[in-house]
Amino acid sequence: MRERENLLLTRRRFLFGASTAAVFAALPLAIRAQQRRVAVAGAGLSGLHAALLLQDAGFEVIVIEGRSRVGGRILTLDHLPGRPEAGGSQIGSNYRRLVAAAGDAGIRLVAGETGGALPTSYLIDGMPETRQSWAESARNPFPEEFRTITPDRLTSFLLREPPFRQTSDWQDQAMAQYDVSASDWFRGQGIDEAGLALLGANNGYGNRFADTSLLSLYRVVAGFQRASAEGASLLEVEGGNLRLPEAMAARLTQPVLLGETLTRVESANGEVRLHCASGREIEADAAILSLPVPPLRAVEFSPALPSRQREAIDTVVFNKVTQAYLEASGDEWEASGIPGSIWSNAGFGRLFANRVGDGGDVRLTVWVNGDGCDRYDSLGEAGAGERLLADIARIYPNARDNLHLRALVRWAADPFSGGSWPAWAPGQIGRYYQALRQPAEGIHFAGEHTASEFSGMEGAFESAERAAREVMTKLA
Ligand SMILES: Cc1cc2nc3c(=O)[nH]c(=O)nc-3n(C[C@H](O)[C@H](O)[C@H](O)COP(=O)(O)OP(=O)(O)OC[C@H]3O[C@@H](n4cnc5c(N)ncnc54)[C@H](O)[C@@H]3O)c2cc1C
Repeated sequence: MRERENLLLTRRRFLFGASTAAVFAALPLAIRAQQRRVAVAGAGLSGLHAALLLQDAGFEVIVIEGRSRVGGRILTLDHLPGRPEAGGSQIGSNYRRLVAAAGDAGIRLVAGETGGALPTSYLIDGMPETRQSWAESARNPFPEEFRTITPDRLTSFLLREPPFRQTSDWQDQAMAQYDVSASDWFRGQGIDEAGLALLGANNGYGNRFADTSLLSLYRVVAGFQRASAEGASLLEVEGGNLRLPEAMAARLTQPVLLGETLTRVESANGEVRLHCASGREIEADAAILSLPVPPLRAVEFSPALPSRQREAIDTVVFNKVTQAYLEASGDEWEASGIPGSIWSNAGFGRLFANRVGDGGDVRLTVWVNGDGCDRYDSLGEAGAGERLLADIARIYPNARDNLHLRALVRWAADPFSGGSWPAWAPGQIGRYYQALRQPAEGIHFAGEHTASEFSGMEGAFESAERAAREVMTKLA
């Protein structure tokens, strides 16, 4: 099937929020009004935001999406009580672009609910610990000066002085000296192998601690520090975060083409052609690919991408995350013997326990990071859930009969994401970050992994604005 419909587009006035308007203010009006066709692959936040910016500027926009839904790594589990977020959940009030886009889409942001969270304790080597017991614990492997800090907080403490002032400076050439092994750096701070194993137990920014770039950890800590310096509070979308991409998609003149998986991109003579697994082909004057790196790896490019860019796409992996959602009535929860939320170095990683509703029911989210996910992801969905429950029941035997598995989300095993976000290995930021966002002939790259100032959802919006601006400039 070959498409080249002529669409009558309503030229919309610029509805951008203040930040977005500023980004585009420098462009001459004539560029914005051009009626050229742009194809966008991926209907996550970055693809949808880029598509809306271009549509609002007068371009004809077609969005394809491999999944049968929009939203990408935003996934509200609508069928579960309390509508838990399986993907992007915490929206900082300093996410200016997201807040503006929500306003444009008629979406209400409300204060994030934290009230139901049950207090956290620790389970180290199978033994319970509390914040108070930790300093004197025989299982505490850290040097004297760090013994009072619990393992979930120690990484942030050790990295409390990032080497850059602006969060966008993390990928500056001058930072290459920090693009090294985080483990080696921690060893230099007096952390031994047992301490490293504990620090890395729930590391969300590298699949193995030994493969994690110190610079990427600095970036994460700097992002948290920035949010607290700006007094940011946490927001969520009323009715679930997935409502935001849904409402953004509804603003598109041409509906997102769902179930269309990009397999090949050809570009020649100022034209780009996207090939989908279904056989659909879409011609455009430019394309924005907003796919995460792992699915991008499966896309063929003709002509081939520059070698460094190809290498980047083939090499950068995403962090593995596996989550299970379990429920218990109030009585079942008491009977389960689980004391509350748990941070552990057991196979099941972390347990986040929340009271939901008025009846005292508890929702338990199990969150496993990194290579620890392999143990579960290597099994089928039912087998993985069964193994998770068995691992929890090994410590809390009564959990088996009192917890009910309702959903399992395996981001690494999902071919449309391949994980949660880049797990930068030492040296990779310097070698690959720029290459991943480098435009090729008529092809532009968006997606959170290409953002500079922000990571997460706001990073997705930031990347979309850069890619949309590249297209506007190119097609001017
Ligand atoms: C578990 C988890 C927790 C998170 N928590 C937070 C948080 O608290 N706060 C925060 O700010 N961020 C968080 N994030 C990150 C945030 O969700 C993402 O950064 C953001 O949603 C990424 O948007 P994106 O548009 O860059 O990518 P995506 O949302 O991944 O969009 C890419 C789209 O491309 C589609 N696609 C992939 N391959 C193809 C193909 N071949 N053809 C066509 N379409 C394709 C995908 O289906 C997807 O819809 C979290 C993410 C995860 C997974």
